Amino acid sequence: MIEEEYRKELSKSKLIVVKVGSTSLSDKEGFLDLKKIEKLCDEIANLKNKGIDVILVSSGAIRAGRALIKNKIKSSNMPSLQALAAIGQVLLMEAYRKIMEQRRHIVAQILLTWDDFKNKRRLRNLLNTLNTLLSFGAIPIINENDTVAVDEIKFGDNDTLSALVAKYMQADLLVILSDVDGLYSGDPNDKNSKLITFVSEITPEIEKYAQNKYEGFGGMITKIKAAKIVMEAGIPMVIANSSIDNVLERIISGEKIGTIFIPKVGI
Ligand code: GLU
Repeated sequence: MIEEEYRKELSKSKLIVVKVGSTSLSDKEGFLDLKKIEKLCDEIANLKNKGIDVILVSSGAIRAGRALIKNKIKSSNMPSLQALAAIGQVLLMEAYRKIMEQRRHIVAQILLTWDDFKNKRRLRNLLNTLNTLLSFGAIPIINENDTVAVDEIKFGDNDTLSALVAKYMQADLLVILSDVDGLYSGDPNDKNSKLITFVSEITPEIEKYAQNKYEGFGGMITKIKAAKIVMEAGIPMVIANSSIDNVLERIISGEKIGTIFIPKVGI
């Protein structure tokens, strides 16, 4: 199949995991940007109203927490980051709840650590809760439980978390929304770099592209790691710029947006 055909298949998606990065939710100073959050909520509400289930994996807690206490905490040691996450998570969920309520949707907060995926009983409980929330019509909003999970903060890894959620929930698609247009062959700010729109295998060359300079917590390396997890699980993934108008709907309708990663066994 060629890229276009793979992209058309995305219109069959019934359950989508959407991961959004911190910079896609905040302004330059780090404060939550309600306009950006409203745009995202509009897009998710639109999918929900079309009968497509969405699980949102949202970053942004640490950045919002830091902005609120006016950057008084300069140090980035682990307890500071964890405290900032605890402060910012409330702001984040407050914004999602209010904005989604105006769109007549209910949100639910889930905070996870890696251990929740490793322990079978906890994983089963998690999947049961997620499925029940979806059956209630609610929108689960997941973040790392940063106050107890040290590694996740260090490696900035909501990308991997979203891939694990997509894998275990057997989602039809993972969309990673970021402040870049996708995977580039070089530094995204360099005019000579090319946007790679289609990846069917994580080759050493693709891994090399991921080493380029990207902003954000995990940059591109963790996104490629996420792609590997979902590709193995038979799930496609798209990295796209969160600022594109109607980005989620357009991805699902097969438009050539961002970088699509195609699973080994086909969609
Ligand atoms: N969990 C972190 C936060 O909400 C972000 C980590 C990430 O973006 O991967 O601030």
